[in-house]
Amino acid sequence: MQEKGTISIHTENIFPIIKKFLYSDNEIFLRELVSNAVDATQKIKRLAALGQYNGEVGDVRVEVAFDADKKTITISDNGIGMTADEIKKYINQIAFSGATEFMEKFKDAKDANEIIGRFGLGFYSAFMVADRVDIETLSYQEGAEPARWTCDGSTEFEITEGSLEERGTEITLHINSESEEFLNEHKLQEILDKYCKFLPVPIKFGTKTESEEDGVDEEGKTKYTSVEVDNIINDTNPIWTKAPSELKDEDYLKFYKELYPFSEDPLFWIHLNVDYPFNLTGVLYFPKLKNDFEFQKNKIKLFSRQVFITDEVKDIVPEFLMLLHGVIDSPDIPLNVSRSFLQADSNVKKINSYITKKVADKLAELFKADRKAFEDKWSDIGLFVKYGMISEDKFYDKAKDFVLLTNTAKQNFTLPEYKDKVEGTQTDKDGQLTYIYTNDAKKQDAFIQSANKKGYDVLVMDSPIDNHFISQLEQKLEKTSLKRVDADVADKLIKKDDAPEHVLTEEQSAKIKEIFDNAIKKPAYKVELESLSPDELPVTVTMDEFMRRMKDMAAMGGGMGFYGNMPDNYKVVVNGNHKLITRILENDNAETQAQLAKQAFDLALLSQGLLTGAELTEFVNRSVSLI
Ligand code: ADP
Ligand code: MG
Repeated sequence: MQEKGTISIHTENIFPIIKKFLYSDNEIFLRELVSNAVDATQKIKRLAALGQYNGEVGDVRVEVAFDADKKTITISDNGIGMTADEIKKYINQIAFSGATEFMEKFKDAKDANEIIGRFGLGFYSAFMVADRVDIETLSYQEGAEPARWTCDGSTEFEITEGSLEERGTEITLHINSESEEFLNEHKLQEILDKYCKFLPVPIKFGTKTESEEDGVDEEGKTKYTSVEVDNIINDTNPIWTKAPSELKDEDYLKFYKELYPFSEDPLFWIHLNVDYPFNLTGVLYFPKLKNDFEFQKNKIKLFSRQVFITDEVKDIVPEFLMLLHGVIDSPDIPLNVSRSFLQADSNVKKINSYITKKVADKLAELFKADRKAFEDKWSDIGLFVKYGMISEDKFYDKAKDFVLLTNTAKQNFTLPEYKDKVEGTQTDKDGQLTYIYTNDAKKQDAFIQSANKKGYDVLVMDSPIDNHFISQLEQKLEKTSLKRVDADVADKLIKKDDAPEHVLTEEQSAKIKEIFDNAIKKPAYKVELESLSPDELPVTVTMDEFMRRMKDMAAMGGGMGFYGNMPDNYKVVVNGNHKLITRILENDNAETQAQLAKQAFDLALLSQGLLTGAELTEFVNRSVSLI
């Protein structure tokens, strides 16, 4: 038997194109060839189970080996094998609809996955790293003859009689000069670890030394000898393929450590398992979040039938869930995912909302089952829950029942509980409810104490996400707005009808304003006289809530834009009812009046950490001289 022929694609030579355009991702050749080998072994098992193969299946296995001298990598299996006719059918007729289409499309393709996936070039990815590829194969079919196929990367191939004596396939790559990095044990082990670590059939890559018990010595101690054993690189039964009822907490924790050896233990996990309307299994872990969580993204690994595909799950997992860790396995996501495919695929959208729902249900369940434990974990999950509520309306609807607000006394409340708590004291004269918060309890301590004195509760909103969460709450909660505790003096945070009387006459007020204006002399600070209760601070410096938010937002967006360019504007509230103000008025020395005013202003700045550098030194010196 000998046959020569031309691989049926109607373009002159496709391999230089594959090589050139797919070069960056070329390590995936191993994933493609190993998963073909795994498929072949699973097919023989299935045929046997269906009674269509009566031979001995034996232990199925796949083996990867390399020979640095001969510059070859070999992938072999004892799967179903191929007859010469099958080689012609499955290998020669490249499974894509037409070379013209390919030629047109490859121009826009961003990565190797996209081309390989779209055009079914799995096997041909071998030519990214090889000058020549040989296939030796023997089909499981009775009376089948071994066949040998060889192709040097042109469109010419050759089929001859093969030499295999046992069922299966052996693919040998003659590695090209640019790809010799792959002829290295560590490199291959690394690629196998990345893509093949959880494949369902044992994959052997060389051998390793293990120590084995070997009787006892004279002192009765166990003796060990080293033995060479097969180096099986994969775990064929990873936990996501098992039923949750078979698994204990330790199993989940152990698997987590296997995936992320350097991470702290996760808080809890969710076992995913659906088969309709799409097929999906997996385990998602809630990690201990750090405040700067950006770097924690891209930790979920995506598999298709236990073959690793990618850890860029952006389109499959909702943005906010990318903070989770773990694995998702779905045969409905093809091995070769591409961006454009994922965005268009309706299964992906369903997977997305399924995961969102599962996560929300799990949190609700934890909250119901053990509120105390839930509260203990809140500092870790809070960030994540808020992130979810901001980014997905569906998640908001579920999370609104268990999201917690924490106040400065470290008490936690659900949204309805908090409303009940503050409704009586924090509703203004128009029936509008105001929640007061601090983003820095230390810096804003004076304001918090003033607010508490008035019977107001103050929430702590100090995580990076809280700015957005606050806006979200205002949109969702009825007749409720949030104000930072230093947005105004406590008396004015919530407008009520019980304003204290004025102590000063209009003339006196104008005089005080003038004294302060002259003492401060800074355009960014606008002096306003207010009649507050006598035990409020004499001078308070505040920034309007709206203005501050706009500036914060501009700063997050890069600092540009209208509000970003506005100078900081502060309001200097002088409490006309405070006895210090009366004392300033009564003093008959203009210089002392100015000094006292400046002193009171600097004290206000100081209490908020706004007084620094030379101004702070000046303040200290002036204080000394006044003592
Ligand atoms: P796909 O795996 O998507 O079908 P490939 O290009 O990877 O595309 O493989 C083409 C076909 O070649 C396979 O479907 C299979 O029929 C055959 N084949 C490839 N490798 C093997 C193997 N190791 N054993 C048996 N058949 C194989
Ligand atoms: Mg394949």
